[in-house]
Amino acid sequence: MQSLFYDRATDAENALGLAQQANARYLGGGTNLLDLLKGDVEQASRLIDLNRSGLARITANADGGVRIGAAARNSDMANDALIRQRYPLLSQALLSGASPQLRNTATAGGNLMQRTRCHYFTDTAFKKCNKRNPGSGCTARDGVNRIHAILGNSDACIATNPSDMSVALAALDAVVVARSPRGERRIPIGEFHRLPGDQPQFDTILGKGELITAIDLPPSPFAANAHYLKVRDRASYAFALVSVAAAVALRDGVVDRAAVALGGVAHKPWRIAGAETALVGQRAGTPGFERSAGAIADILLAGAQGFKDNRFKIPLAHRSIVRALQVAAQPTGGTA
Ligand SMILES: Cc1cc2nc3c(=O)[nH]c(=O)nc-3n(C[C@H](O)[C@H](O)[C@H](O)COP(=O)(O)OP(=O)(O)OC[C@H]3O[C@@H](n4cnc5c(N)ncnc54)[C@H](O)[C@@H]3O)c2cc1C
Ligand code: SF4
Repeated sequence: MQSLFYDRATDAENALGLAQQANARYLGGGTNLLDLLKGDVEQASRLIDLNRSGLARITANADGGVRIGAAARNSDMANDALIRQRYPLLSQALLSGASPQLRNTATAGGNLMQRTRCHYFTDTAFKKCNKRNPGSGCTARDGVNRIHAILGNSDACIATNPSDMSVALAALDAVVVARSPRGERRIPIGEFHRLPGDQPQFDTILGKGELITAIDLPPSPFAANAHYLKVRDRASYAFALVSVAAAVALRDGVVDRAAVALGGVAHKPWRIAGAETALVGQRAGTPGFERSAGAIADILLAGAQGFKDNRFKIPLAHRSIVRALQVAAQPTGGTA
């Protein structure tokens, strides 16, 4: 492993200042970054620990939303009373991820920034990986690509984003709050992660040394009816092959609003603006509801492209969208 300097940031300002040094990286729980450094997949010469920076608070916003500090632990978020009450979709997504030990360590900022689980990216024995070594090629396209993307691919990269939390954030219209020496900016979650294009080395639009300080969740109409469906090879401790964050707001049993985002299928959480209007006006539990859920799936999966090993994801995602919406709309509110 590379030798590293270690700094403990006292607050956001201090972290930002320390990050201006050459080859510095922020350290959340270290559950992704340290593995990548040990494997020589990523390089750094200085780690800036955010765990004593005062960025771990979860607080109610005046508008009825909630602010999650970037250093909040995944388990603290999932079990927080405000999150459970107002955003059960986020709580479910977080609890479906990793293991209790990892969730006790991993942070909100680190989860947003975690890198792909493409085997060819994490194993430096494979020389061709445009994400790790730009311009070298993509081993996955003609390799073993069962876990790879079916939407938004490019010739350069077919990797997926592995975060469950981010899929729920996409359905909930979260905003990422980030700071750089130029000031603060607010990034809608749909614009935070990138599609690979011809620069798959960049997963997000965050600039070098830019610090995520918080995630803002706007007031949500989806507190009563939401469901995170994660399809994976094992019942726990496995990344999603396909996941669906689905939520509906019902008025007298009829859909007033809906939100659907997909995970495990693209380089970013997949959501298409306006797709959910197909469900508005449908009564939960009726054939019309199921047909409209299928119409949403058709819109979300339009243009999906499978490779040698992952074509199964297209029908799987279709069925999962319909199922997640049906469960979300049940009287139990999707907690079943
Ligand atoms: C065995 C295993 C199974 C897993 N299963 C799942 C799963 O099923 N679902 C899932 O979603 N995840 C899963 N994970 C991934 C896990 O959720 C991530 O490793 C974790 O969320 C990363 O958070 P962290 O705080 O440890 O990040 P770190 O490893 O500390 O950092 C990750 C990246 O984020 C950057 N960073 C951290 N904080 C900030 C900040 N505030 N501003 C800017 N950059 C920042 C770091 O510099 C680094 O580049 C799994 C991980 C493991 C090891
Ligand atoms: S899919 Fe992306 S991450 Fe995987 S080998 Fe190809 S370029 Fe690398």
